[in-house]
Amino acid sequence: MKEIIQIENLKFCYVREADQISVEAVKDVSLEVEKGSFVAIIGRNGSGKSTLAKNINALLLPTGGAVYVKGFDTRDDEHLWEIRQTVGMVFQNPDNQLVSSIVEDDVAFGPENMGIPPEEIRRRVDNALKAVNMYEHRKKAPHLLSGGQKQRIAIAGVVAMMPDCIIFDEPTAMLDPKGRDEVMSIIRNLHKDGITVILITHFMEEAADADRVIIMDKGEILLNGTPVEIFSEAEKIRDLGLDVPVVVDLADRLR
Ligand code: ADP
Ligand code: MG
Repeated sequence: MKEIIQIENLKFCYVREADQISVEAVKDVSLEVEKGSFVAIIGRNGSGKSTLAKNINALLLPTGGAVYVKGFDTRDDEHLWEIRQTVGMVFQNPDNQLVSSIVEDDVAFGPENMGIPPEEIRRRVDNALKAVNMYEHRKKAPHLLSGGQKQRIAIAGVVAMMPDCIIFDEPTAMLDPKGRDEVMSIIRNLHKDGITVILITHFMEEAADADRVIIMDKGEILLNGTPVEIFSEAEKIRDLGLDVPVVVDLADRLR
């Protein structure tokens, strides 16, 4: 099977605690993600990107339509373990993702919870730390690291679980330009190594490397195409309040 993820008419509603009013965060999204591909998702705040992401690794379950990971329906309890092992997630704030006081213990946390034997964990942790260029910092305390370094540790923690696909939900949003470059270069390398990458981002230039760019608006997919196709639709993107000067510049560079 070429598609690792299949999303069919996904709908997701939150029910607000305070007044029990239902909020339709994802209205109707259909999407297929090919194994080994790099998909970028762009959209304004509140367009439903994070809700979509959480539906892909079964942190949330569809209120309508369906999501299949490796052919398994995410609503099927029986396959939850396999789905979570197939699709890892990296979030915006590295501080919320680090749990231990030593870098290498943090990276080992996921594989330990998977019940992997100690010598295999050792190997995975070392490989993951090398993959994010943080091996030399393995004995340090995460709180002493820069934002970009912390995010790379969070990425190593996911890589150590050896998922086929990683969803990055605005992984560079809280980083300075240097940290952003470091993290983007790691993401590109993971993709080169064969990991399927879904990158949610506000930064148009980060989407230029993707095979496919998806623009979301109000819980729906507005545009879905190659970076060149998408960035030539400057007007539509401008209407959404996304950054046009950069887009036009990027479209020119891509051509
Ligand atoms: P994005 O990631 O694109 O900023 P989200 O998926 O976080 O968008 O949110 C989509 C919509 O769902 C927004 O209107 C948001 O306010 C709403 N929403 C998100 N999380 C919750 C929640 N836990 N309870 C109620 N509404 C939510
Ligand atoms: Mg979000």
